[in-house]
Amino acid sequence: MKTTKETINLNPQIVREIYDEAKKYDGVVDLTLGDPDIRTPELIINETVAALHNNKTKYTANSGLIELRTAISEDVYKRTGVRYNAADEITVTAGAMGALFLASQCLFAPGDEVIILEPNWPNYINMVRMRGAKEIIVSLFEENVIEKIKASITHKTIAIVINSPSNPTGLVLSWDILLQIAQLAKENDIYVITDEVYHSIVFDTEYRSILEIEGMKERTILVDSLSKRFSMTGYRVGFLCAPKEIAQLSSQLQENVNSCACMFAQAASVIALENCEKAQEEIKEIFKDRCMSMFKELNKSPYLDVPKPMATFYLFFDITKTKMSSYDFTIKLLKSKHIAVVPGNAFGKTGEGYIRIACTLSTEKLVYAAKQIVAFIDEECKIS
Ligand code: PLP
Repeated sequence: MKTTKETINLNPQIVREIYDEAKKYDGVVDLTLGDPDIRTPELIINETVAALHNNKTKYTANSGLIELRTAISEDVYKRTGVRYNAADEITVTAGAMGALFLASQCLFAPGDEVIILEPNWPNYINMVRMRGAKEIIVSLFEENVIEKIKASITHKTIAIVINSPSNPTGLVLSWDILLQIAQLAKENDIYVITDEVYHSIVFDTEYRSILEIEGMKERTILVDSLSKRFSMTGYRVGFLCAPKEIAQLSSQLQENVNSCACMFAQAASVIALENCEKAQEEIKEIFKDRCMSMFKELNKSPYLDVPKPMATFYLFFDITKTKMSSYDFTIKLLKSKHIAVVPGNAFGKTGEGYIRIACTLSTEKLVYAAKQIVAFIDEECKIS
């Protein structure tokens, strides 16, 4: 059967593969997908129900409800000091994924090159490939990252994608690194796509956006969503903020993809952004408690060296002392202890030798899983 070159060329989704594999076992503690068990705050649920009763069940403008774009404009201004015009610089999308899809449709053409910092969320690679463009990988785990980015820039480079705080590593890019990336973007006239979906889940660390840097608003596409911040993954509400031309084009394109984001979900999102600061804090504290508990428990193994969590709800840690590959570790752990994790190579070659755990379940279940992981390593490493 004939299908397009761009779709044949997609990167395999190892996260989904392990998630599906885990379904074959009983009583699995599944720590694969980034979809936490935390309930959506009651206020948001009530607003959703009210929106349904109030006939908010129709199409909206391609760029989204103006009330929501206004709330987004305020929210982004509050945290970055950068003001976007609700009328023409913001597009509400079906999750951050919708925003990334529209941004890549607007910016990437066949033959273009897009710099991606590895380990990376795998969807970035496919967004690039779906456009017939090419990903240029720079490892964040090597020395001289900025020099490496500089060396990767060619006349074909259209953009660099950054994701801070990061899935899978949970790392926050320092202000100094952001300044240097911004400098390179300005000098070489390239766009920065900054995916900030985890910006509200940061623990005791300074978090800044590249947008705050002078001269960056005009070359940055901010991608964000309410999914992780308010535990609203299923609402599918995200947005992009961009220079007017790009924001307008992305709204026009949306007509041909899904027309608009779901109307009642958009209506409830206004309340989330305007009235749920406390709930957002509570969600962050839950993740902090979970991540710290896992960090303490896993570090009881002499074979693991888990870095102190900075942000997000992911732990990404080195398992090379166990002498197992990331994939073997994952499959053996699933078979013997019914704990599902993700092998680090799902996030690029740089991730080989690492495991990612999504702290999406209660602390009690996570601590149980951590104890099982430590026991598994003890058993495996004694035998070999
Ligand atoms: N960006 C990153 C880094 C993610 O980890 C995810 C989801 O896991 C997304 C974007 C997608 O978010 P959304 O649910 O808003 O589409």
